[in-house]
Amino acid sequence: MTGVRVWMSGVDRQQSVFWRLRSRVLFVRRWWNWRVRWGYLEFVPRVHIVGIVVGWFVALGAVLPQSELHVYDMEPLAALPIGVLVYALYAGGRLVHEAGHAVAGVSRGLSLERVEFGALRAAADWPDGSLAAAPASARRLVAVSGSAAQFVLGTALLALAANLGPTWSPFVWEIVVLGGLVNVCGLFNLLPVWRSDGEYLFGWAWRVRPAWVGALPGTIAMYLLAFGTAAAQFPHGWTAAMMAQLLKSPSGLAVVAFASALVAWIIDRWVFPHRETAVGNESRA
Ligand SMILES: [Zn+2]
Repeated sequence: MTGVRVWMSGVDRQQSVFWRLRSRVLFVRRWWNWRVRWGYLEFVPRVHIVGIVVGWFVALGAVLPQSELHVYDMEPLAALPIGVLVYALYAGGRLVHEAGHAVAGVSRGLSLERVEFGALRAAADWPDGSLAAAPASARRLVAVSGSAAQFVLGTALLALAANLGPTWSPFVWEIVVLGGLVNVCGLFNLLPVWRSDGEYLFGWAWRVRPAWVGALPGTIAMYLLAFGTAAAQFPHGWTAAMMAQLLKSPSGLAVVAFASALVAWIIDRWVFPHRETAVGNESRA
């Protein structure tokens, strides 16, 4: 592990040399794109700050009296730590997932290049072609270890919540249970669809076009299972309120589905324009 290193992508470096900057706005833009490298870990701090703000909005939806999903009484500022918890459980699960891939690969003699840790996607990167060229047993172990590590984290969170949950605030209890369930459902990554861990595990995949269609069944199953189970455990909680709101009318559900897809696309395209695009690269898992 070396010290923390901060830099910008090559494109940013070309476009914005420090002494050429004319305005503060440009400086902010430049700072905004910083990447941090700490040991193998590589991330853009910006995306995680945005993620925490999104988590806070989720928490605010449950505590603001004027919200349709208002189920818990809490000051808006007190909801901020819960927003941090929401994001930490989501992003932490992804980090543990990639750590699982990384440790498995290194234990089988592969040389790890870096672990990208984005808000929307994370990946353990290996030198070009080395994972695809590794023996099938090593490739399968690397593939399965991500979801397995995430499953262990999810189970630990559920066990923690089962034991200590009643002593926590109800909102925290619900969020930890939901986070545990979402991470347990990380196992859906092993479905054999194009560009997923399942493709590495099974050596074949459902190659549907466009590729994102292949990710739909697992994602829908994951959220129905995780959110449905959390809603059943907390019938007066945030998850139940949200699901009831969504299922109120089919047209409402369609609007939400369309809006979510649009927002996801906008975030993907505009908020995180420097995300790595080579999802299908042979050496990522
Ligand atoms: Zn994975």
